[in-house]
Amino acid sequence: ETFAEIGLGNDLKKNIRRCNYVKPTPIQRYAIPIAVAGRDLMACAQTGSGKTAAFCFPIISGVLSDPSLVSGRRGGGGGGGSAAVACPLALILAPTRELSCQIFEEAKKFAYMTGVRISVAYGGTPIYQQLRSLEKGVDILVATPGRLVDMIERARVSLGMIKYLALDEADRMLDMGFEPQIRKIVEQMDMPSPGTRQTMLFSATFPEDIQRLASDFLLDYIFLAV
Ligand code: AMP
Repeated sequence: ETFAEIGLGNDLKKNIRRCNYVKPTPIQRYAIPIAVAGRDLMACAQTGSGKTAAFCFPIISGVLSDPSLVSGRRGGGGGGGSAAVACPLALILAPTRELSCQIFEEAKKFAYMTGVRISVAYGGTPIYQQLRSLEKGVDILVATPGRLVDMIERARVSLGMIKYLALDEADRMLDMGFEPQIRKIVEQMDMPSPGTRQTMLFSATFPEDIQRLASDFLLDYIFLAV
């Protein structure tokens, strides 16, 4: 099986070829069709399994077909006045600066020349440059939980438009003590009305606290272990 047979748009397929991905990895082969079909997903996947593409491809594909991308931009590009509130369509949460940067770099390659705007936000560095990048408008935000909560509290990011949520290395995020921040973030998404987003949870292990997170955040989800 090739990527051509998985239901992804032509722009995305071109970029996948450009990245020299020929054959989907097992997690990609199973997760992408499920996610493209709009289902919630909990996947047990290790580093090196190709999990980044497994959640990025469906997210980029969904964002590309979103009416708000076609018919006009949400936030950003305004210029002047008070600071704009960024309203991304998709959020990818990751435990560390390193992982969030890796996902950001990969996602940019996958979305090359598509017009999809991607930003990254992580802690441990001054916030201003990241805020300035958000002001230009963002479709997909890759973030660590603590820095994102900071941005939400500063009213610089709103999660009211989120349609896609991916949690990467969820077990590591919980090990690092990010559960309160993650819950706060997901609560923000339920503000307009719950159940309107698609959620993908990736974790190397599936202990009780991850199972609880899955049952709290996912709806009728499919469980994948590869
Ligand atoms: P990940 O598990 O997402 O960190 O991916 C591990 C590495 O495999 C990264 O360097 C990816 O660019 C690469 N990779 C992921 N999927 C594929 C694929 N289908 N074909 C070739 N390389 C891939």
